[in-house]
Amino acid sequence: MLRGDIEAALWQSITGVEVRFATTPVAITEGPAEVRVLLENADTGAQYSESFDLVVGADGMRSSVRRIVFGPHEDHLTTWNAMICAFELKEQVPTYEASDSIIIARAKRAVWVFGFADHAPTALLTYRTRDIQEQFSGSRVERLRAVFSGMDDDPVVRHVLDSLEEAPDHLFDSVHQVRMPRWSTGRVVLVGDAAWCMNLYSGMGATSSLRGGAALGAALQEHPDDTAAALDAWEAGLRPFITKHQRTARLKQQMFVPSSRRAEVLRSGLVGLARRIRGRRSATEAAGPQTMARSGTSR
Ligand SMILES: Cc1cc2nc3c(=O)[nH]c(=O)nc-3n(C[C@H](O)[C@H](O)[C@H](O)COP(=O)(O)OP(=O)(O)OC[C@H]3O[C@@H](n4cnc5c(N)ncnc54)[C@H](O)[C@@H]3O)c2cc1C
Repeated sequence: MLRGDIEAALWQSITGVEVRFATTPVAITEGPAEVRVLLENADTGAQYSESFDLVVGADGMRSSVRRIVFGPHEDHLTTWNAMICAFELKEQVPTYEASDSIIIARAKRAVWVFGFADHAPTALLTYRTRDIQEQFSGSRVERLRAVFSGMDDDPVVRHVLDSLEEAPDHLFDSVHQVRMPRWSTGRVVLVGDAAWCMNLYSGMGATSSLRGGAALGAALQEHPDDTAAALDAWEAGLRPFITKHQRTARLKQQMFVPSSRRAEVLRSGLVGLARRIRGRRSATEAAGPQTMARSGTSR
């Protein structure tokens, strides 16, 4: 499922909520019974203040609310020495079905194509590097061609790199996790990637953000007159789930992009084993009323 589909579903289900675009917080000041936020209109530059019972910062990995209230990004973003580039493919890799997913994982470099039943496929290039700053200099296409050189004799990798040159937009960023000892202070609370970004390797970012938001709403309803108690209960209930998935993301990263040649061999052994088990299961299923519909390739 694409992030945009989740966003569309949320848009359909919110009613009675005022949404202001191009509006960003520039200062947040806590008072005894309210929190005052200085807001800026990004189009006009006009600033105005407004007071709230509670400020919820759900503004992603590089959260402005977190920076203003909890301190600079460097205090909370952990280093993973890895980069990603994600974009939509205009066309599926030749000879593959539209909904096929393809994985080519080598030591420190990997190309993933995610096939969807109802969308164009998306491509994810991910690689490990010690010099994150350097990755942001120069042409991105040239950098990715250099990083994936030696793999581009594979038609899948070549198709993805060629498609990147024509893609109208793409996401290119470093990979981090957000680690915080506490997700709220006074009347300001962070949720989702702003508070605990697990990163894409976890595969749990969207799930945990939705779960965190829903649990926060429930906690505030259960403690209508005591925001502090609501925030305490919310964090105590959610923290073990988040910690567990933050930890397993390191392991899952090895499946996305192995850290060494040895990890690559181990990974491919595990994938082969999983495929054999799945093959045995689907043979059993094929004998019954259902067969597997979706195919995929992992190399
Ligand atoms: C390439 C990639 C692949 C991923 N794949 C998966 C996956 O398969 N499964 C999964 O579960 N997760 C995946 N994730 C992670 C998932 O996308 C995030 O964990 C999830 O979107 C976090 O939701 P969020 O609402 O907390 O933050 P975001 O989705 O980052 O949303 C934050 C919002 O805040 C807005 N914002 C930021 N700053 C301001 C500001 N100053 N003023 C106003 N608005 C602001 C942004 O525009 C944005 O709309 C992936 C992430 C990436 C990058």
